[in-house]
Amino acid sequence: MEQTTFEYSLIAISESISFQMKLPEKNQDLAFHFKLAMATEIDFENQTARIENPIQNSSELRQKVDMVVEHYKKQFPQIHRLSKYFKKELGENEFFFLVPTTIIPIEQRLLYSNYLKAANEGKDFETLKTQFNDIFENIIGSYVMIGYNDKSVARIGERDKAKRKCRFCGKGQPEVSFKKIAHSISEALGNKKIISNEECDSCNKKFGTQLEPDLIAYLDLYRSYFRVQGKNGPPKIKGKNFEFHATDTEVKIKYFGDDDGNQMTDFGRTYKFDTNKEITEQNIYRTLCKFFIGVIDPQYLPRFTNTIEWINGERKIPFLPKVAIMYSYHFFKTTHPQICVYLRKVNNKSLPFAVGEFHFTFLTFVFVIPIELEDEKKFLTADEYDTFWKFFKHYSLNKDWRFENFSDDSRKNLVLNVNFNVAGGTLK
Ligand SMILES: [Zn+2]
Repeated sequence: MEQTTFEYSLIAISESISFQMKLPEKNQDLAFHFKLAMATEIDFENQTARIENPIQNSSELRQKVDMVVEHYKKQFPQIHRLSKYFKKELGENEFFFLVPTTIIPIEQRLLYSNYLKAANEGKDFETLKTQFNDIFENIIGSYVMIGYNDKSVARIGERDKAKRKCRFCGKGQPEVSFKKIAHSISEALGNKKIISNEECDSCNKKFGTQLEPDLIAYLDLYRSYFRVQGKNGPPKIKGKNFEFHATDTEVKIKYFGDDDGNQMTDFGRTYKFDTNKEITEQNIYRTLCKFFIGVIDPQYLPRFTNTIEWINGERKIPFLPKVAIMYSYHFFKTTHPQICVYLRKVNNKSLPFAVGEFHFTFLTFVFVIPIELEDEKKFLTADEYDTFWKFFKHYSLNKDWRFENFSDDSRKNLVLNVNFNVAGGTLK
């Protein structure tokens, strides 16, 4: 049966959702009725409805939405999500944008959110726009930005298995198979929604056993502390000198002291948790870049041939740019990981061609993708890195970043520096 997709994103300050439904060609009434419910102006003669954004949530609007939901809920049970959204998540009289797509570039999201802030607070949009432009105009003019989060399922890349080519080994069927669901970001980090069509079973297995475990080990305490649900639930961690287990009601930590004889008595200080696991720091960087490669638009892939060779372990890159890391509850909205990609659209070589931003619980990682091309800078010197960092004002305006070097390419014992505050359990 022929199908068309019914897809929308509803963007608001308090909560945004996206949904995607396949409608049979002969039954497009839902799409039309939904549009009618949202419309500000309806032309019955020509059967058209005009939607004027932003739309304001009201009891009248909720009644119209309820009617649509009532009518179609048997046939399309997913539509219940809409009722919940308007009743429980969106505030009374709150403004929202309705857009007919599920993939929205970040710059557009930012613009929407500014407009909404102004509309909700009755503030002057022009003033907000000026402040916004001051921070973002650099980025918007120079980069294409795309983000993936937990709001909708994204299956990235070619849908037809017969036409697929693996992004990492370049092979297609029958040389390799695509039977398993490949998570663009490790499932152990709570990813359920960001799926990569173009990662073959062999590469998936290789990354899952040889590469990703190092980043996962590095993030283990946070996985446990925030009870991130991977395939096997949140982990209980047993290291050489500590045990760590978080349940819904408490965090249990046992610490048996370190080589300096320190016991865990002082909450203000940093403890060395010896995980008893060996990892390669460079694999942490490789894994972040593997996530990046998994979600970008395929048109960019040829630019990353060298990067992919490095991720695969077929090419050495001895020195990597610093990775910026921030710990902030401000960005902690979900235990589902999120990723944003920045791809340069101008020919300004003082800026990196590609930058990734990865969110995991209350951690944000920002990393330049090593690209190893003659005409691109490497961002290893302080000057080069500074130029990039200052240009990305929405990052550099915040002073809480920490810069880490993950260039070490040898296996080493992983020791985590952990700091618990007096309130009993904020991890830093
Ligand atoms: Zn492959």
